[in-house]
Amino acid sequence: MAENKHFDVAIVGAGPVGLAFAGWLANSWGVQANRIAVFDAKSLEDAVKDPRILALSDATRLRLGSLAFPANATPIHHIHVSEQNRFGQVRMRAEEMGLRALGWTVRYGDLVKCLNQAAIDRGVQVFRNAPVQFAHRSAQDSLEVLELADGTEHTACLRVDAEGGLYGEAGERDKVVDYNQWALISEVKARVESSLLESSNTLAFERFTSDGPLALLPISADQGLYSLIWCAPKNVVDQRLQLSDRELFNQLRQQFGRRVEILQAGPRKCFPLGMNWREHLVQGRRVAIGNAAQILHPVAGQGLNLGLRDAATLCRMLDQTVIQTESGLNDLLHAFESSRALDRKAVVRMTDLMVRGFSNTNPWMGAGRQTALNFMEYAPFMRKQFAEFMLFGLAA
Ligand SMILES: Cc1cc2nc3c(=O)[nH]c(=O)nc-3n(C[C@H](O)[C@H](O)[C@H](O)COP(=O)(O)OP(=O)(O)OC[C@H]3O[C@@H](n4cnc5c(N)ncnc54)[C@H](O)[C@@H]3O)c2cc1C
Repeated sequence: MAENKHFDVAIVGAGPVGLAFAGWLANSWGVQANRIAVFDAKSLEDAVKDPRILALSDATRLRLGSLAFPANATPIHHIHVSEQNRFGQVRMRAEEMGLRALGWTVRYGDLVKCLNQAAIDRGVQVFRNAPVQFAHRSAQDSLEVLELADGTEHTACLRVDAEGGLYGEAGERDKVVDYNQWALISEVKARVESSLLESSNTLAFERFTSDGPLALLPISADQGLYSLIWCAPKNVVDQRLQLSDRELFNQLRQQFGRRVEILQAGPRKCFPLGMNWREHLVQGRRVAIGNAAQILHPVAGQGLNLGLRDAATLCRMLDQTVIQTESGLNDLLHAFESSRALDRKAVVRMTDLMVRGFSNTNPWMGAGRQTALNFMEYAPFMRKQFAEFMLFGLAA
């Protein structure tokens, strides 16, 4: 049996949020043995196989710059938002915001791999194939005790829950919204109508359809490679998983019209979607961040951006001397919870509004959406405000 150890901070979950938090904390506290540990149920090889392509805001790229960011990330210069069978559309441009890019697409696996290395380089102990099975408070010193599957028991002054997960996997939460949607994802080769390509910019598409949102995120502009995320009710996604490539391309042609032609598609995978969130993040010496605190529908690509803001704020507030005393730690964690409330609620509500608003078939709602998109297209101030919120949240 492995040795039992004590850590100042034990993080459960080496997803991007847990790893980034560990790396940032090591940056600000310096390297000392047994201060910071991360435990993950999966091996790194398994984590790297995750097929998700994530769109991260430029603010997130800058934030992660103090640790690591995948060198092969693709910039998103413009985002084209439209609705099937309606004229409303809006195009957001990085140059309008004075930015190099509105966002970046990265492979989940590449991000985890480089954040894992960044944490190890800073002296964080990363335990893989180490699922935390039970947790309790020790009777004599009231520390957090983490019991691993192999029977090892580690103690910590602070336990950070970053065990994330997908919608439907999380235990009981304060608010749960099931949109009856799943995402079919695949890497596709696509040809974009030339009139849509301005100069050498890379373009992402978000299209609202009657089944649910459909997005194309650029992975490699030169090769015309995109990540397809196509949301719909489970039975529709199941049917789409069974289609031949030709049938799939035809269905996508009906959705995109002439704008985009899909030429090739890789393996298809699907993910359950929904929203759930915890009102309260703190329980004794435990605090939740990232998907362990809230899971969002990916329609606005905000889940990880928001989770990393949780991690960055907690790291900024954590005082190494305070965590030793229970009352001091409790005050600090509650201050963290309060400071995150506004940003979390705003992003959760905005995401919820987008899913519900664009899934509503009421013709008046449809007309309203068309007006809103056109208004943003012709009102640069509104477009900038909206883009700023999506890029930076209400973290400040
Ligand atoms: C289809 C899809 C597309 C998305 N697109 C975007 C996007 O474009 N932009 C964006 O910002 N977000 C996006 N998201 C959301 C994003 O993937 C999540 O917000 C992000 O992965 C959360 O990171 P995390 O580290 O909190 O959790 P996770 O990535 O879920 O990682 C949690 C880790 O904890 C480990 N774990 C779980 N239980 C235990 C345990 N008991 N013991 C030890 N380890 C444990 C797991 O093995 C895992 O490695 C998307 C999500 C989906 C499903």
